[in-house]
Amino acid sequence: MKQVYEFKEGGKEMIPILGGKGGNLSEMVKIGLPIPYGIIVSTTACNQYFKDGEKLSESLKKEILKNIQILENATGKKIQSENPLLVSVRSGAPVSMPGMMDTILNLGFNDYVAQKMLDITGDEEFVYSSYLRFVQMFSEITEGIDRKRFTELKSDNYKDQINEGKQIYKNECGKEFPENFKEQIFYAVKAIFDSWNNDRAILYRKLNNIDNNMGTAVIIQEMVFGNLNEKSGTGVLFTRNPSTGEDKIFGEVLLNAQGEDIVAGIRTPDDINLLKTTMPVIYDELVKTTKKLEKHNKDMQDIEFTIENSKLFILQTRNGKRTPEASLKIAMDMVEENILTKEEAILKVEPSSINKLLTGDFDEKSLKEAVFLTKGLAASSGVAVGRIMFDSKRVKIREKTILIREETSPEDLQGMALAQGIVTLKGGATSHGAVVARGMGKCCVTGCSEIKIDEIKRTMTVGEHVLKEGDFISVSGHTGEIFLGKIPLKENSFSDELKEFILWAADMKRMEVRMNADTPEDAMQGKLFGATGIGLCRTEHMFFKHDKIWAIRDFILSDRGEEKKKSLEKLFELQKKDFLEIFEILDGSEVNIRLLDPPVHEFLPKTKEDREKMAEILEKPVEEIEIRIRKLKDENPMLGHRGCRLGVSYPELYRMQGKAIMEAAYECSKKGIKVLPEIMIPFIMEAKELAYLKKEIEEEIKNLFEEIGGKVEYKLGTMIEIPRACLLADEIAEHADFFSFGTNDLTQMSMGLSRDDSVKFLDDYREKGIWEGEPFYSIDTKSVTKLVEIALKNAKPVKPDLKIGVCGEHGGDPKSIEFFENNNFNYISCSPFRIPTAILAAAQAYLRKEKK
Ligand code: ADP
Ligand code: MG
Ligand code: MG
Repeated sequence: MKQVYEFKEGGKEMIPILGGKGGNLSEMVKIGLPIPYGIIVSTTACNQYFKDGEKLSESLKKEILKNIQILENATGKKIQSENPLLVSVRSGAPVSMPGMMDTILNLGFNDYVAQKMLDITGDEEFVYSSYLRFVQMFSEITEGIDRKRFTELKSDNYKDQINEGKQIYKNECGKEFPENFKEQIFYAVKAIFDSWNNDRAILYRKLNNIDNNMGTAVIIQEMVFGNLNEKSGTGVLFTRNPSTGEDKIFGEVLLNAQGEDIVAGIRTPDDINLLKTTMPVIYDELVKTTKKLEKHNKDMQDIEFTIENSKLFILQTRNGKRTPEASLKIAMDMVEENILTKEEAILKVEPSSINKLLTGDFDEKSLKEAVFLTKGLAASSGVAVGRIMFDSKRVKIREKTILIREETSPEDLQGMALAQGIVTLKGGATSHGAVVARGMGKCCVTGCSEIKIDEIKRTMTVGEHVLKEGDFISVSGHTGEIFLGKIPLKENSFSDELKEFILWAADMKRMEVRMNADTPEDAMQGKLFGATGIGLCRTEHMFFKHDKIWAIRDFILSDRGEEKKKSLEKLFELQKKDFLEIFEILDGSEVNIRLLDPPVHEFLPKTKEDREKMAEILEKPVEEIEIRIRKLKDENPMLGHRGCRLGVSYPELYRMQGKAIMEAAYECSKKGIKVLPEIMIPFIMEAKELAYLKKEIEEEIKNLFEEIGGKVEYKLGTMIEIPRACLLADEIAEHADFFSFGTNDLTQMSMGLSRDDSVKFLDDYREKGIWEGEPFYSIDTKSVTKLVEIALKNAKPVKPDLKIGVCGEHGGDPKSIEFFENNNFNYISCSPFRIPTAILAAAQAYLRKEKK
């Protein structure tokens, strides 16, 4: 098996075995760029090395030496000879892990070589500083000797310093510093392999979800010297500005220096523009090379280069990291420059960066200097800066405030709407606070269990910090981090460019992207962002705003019979009015309305004041109200008397809603508005449940049509959010025009995890390596997706034209969206502020599927 390749044998397509650095170096040789020649020990050899108990096999050693000969022939130089070849030994994994692994420069030095180099260059400073650097790097990387010890050498001349350095090596490892190239190179290759498993690299892989079994390649490359003279230097550059995307090279250069100097921060580098005046020819060549590389790799590049005596060499290229703004601008500019097709541009932009563009972010420099307080769950993206406030009623519009609550309930709504951002100590990614905040497009961090609030003193404690109400904090809903004081923001918005980009994506996607919208305001917002319909209108949420909550409380708390009937009439009017507005906004698009599904506890009056007000409304003594509240309280509300179970107990409730929807629809259609209502029943676990409720609702609607002497077409379907419903989807499908997967509840019930409580212990799972997932963000691919697949397989044969959608939080998550696309969902639905992200993710998922 071949384990070592020379550059000309490789290419980009071989990155899995040559590593990113090696594959790209090979590719650059192919397109004729000036590259110091080299050979690559493959990742396969690295993996074999680990299998062999961290030993270099004899066959590998032989192959390396054979290829070194090839390198000698290619360069016209010879190892440790009159005309000595020196090499760098560089690490390079298939996935970029910048600075995580090691590199040794100037390998091949010994006293003989130094003398020969002196004969050639006549430059002691150059020769000995390079030699000393080699002794230091070799000691550090092969034996872990702290580089600091080489900055504290006592001797005052290089020659003695080099000997002192070798003595440190000897003292530390009880053997002579290797002078022979063979020994040097084998130690070096082994050390680079080992650096795959240094702590930094392991942590980096963990944080970035990189496979631990890939291994690294080792590049052995002819040295070029940026430290040869004043006409030499080394630098790094981005082919475009990585923070704004501006089409101008951006970088740093250090004259008369070796690459390491920039990284080590020994000297402060100059702006790359310095070359314009000092080496104009090189500058032009650099610009030309960057353009060539961009065109070839179809992306903005991050390049490392060295100039040796007025000759340019490229040492590395890779796709450059960039801010969300730059990402969008570069993708769109490259379409204009004919480097990318629109499809390729769509695939280049990370969907999560759209969210950051929409909701803003902190100024990066200031963020680095900020004082970190704590970290919770990044529940709703965006950033907020404001004074902390622990009481919703005290949040004011004029003052920027951050509402901090144990957890939020509908009573906090007003305060949440006025606050800049929301922080809760409890709750997960789909807790009340999180869902409402996402709906409002407002920054929210949940599950900050390290914060302690003292309601009486009006203070909060985080670690050693004690903050008073009114003190400033800065909150990032992108990362979940909370900082002390005010961090300045970058400006962002739904710019014209972003709008255009999303329009491109909208043209390419297959699935419909709808919004979860409960109010006319939401619907306007979502439509602006490109949603083409409503996938979920939660009728209970329609009561969150303003004083409508009392109407629903009235219904929940009133007695069966006459009292309930009266409260239903009130509800009917309120609902119909909302539907009228929403249908008008969604003229020509589907509006999916879910019948009442209130987790009752969220709606019951909590404070004494509220209970008194309720008593007044219902004209009953407070004691009576309190008894009713106690009776209504579910022991386990998430599995309690909710969803269609309420409908089964009180069919008049769902009948009222069906009538309100259809009466509104009819009135709109009379005005020439095209209405496409879909009535959705939540929490179904059994076909007979659905059959019963369907019959009730249809009867009500039939009566209505007879009464008004007209009709409007509508669809009636169900949420699929209980595992049993997935298993029995064939029976349920018989009564449904559509299925909408409620993946929040489905996750909760298939994993036995409460979305609100799981934050308390999932961190322990992560820490102990038992389980890494965030099942309420990204659909669990071992259980929930299986249930969805079973449901589809069961239901489709019964009803081939059954419409399939999703309305859980996963509808806005790019990874989950890929799953929905691959399973041919008709639509996805998510909160308005996630619509642009979802459109982009849907387009990408479809393009990727088509490519396969
Ligand atoms: P990293 O992955 O940490 O960037 P590299 O292998 O790219 O490590 O090496 C770091 C720097 O060392 C390079 O940017 C370059 O300046 C210098 N370097 C590496 N190989 C050579 C070489 N053959 N000639 C000159 N300089 C080199
Ligand atoms: Mg590098
Ligand atoms: Mg549900």
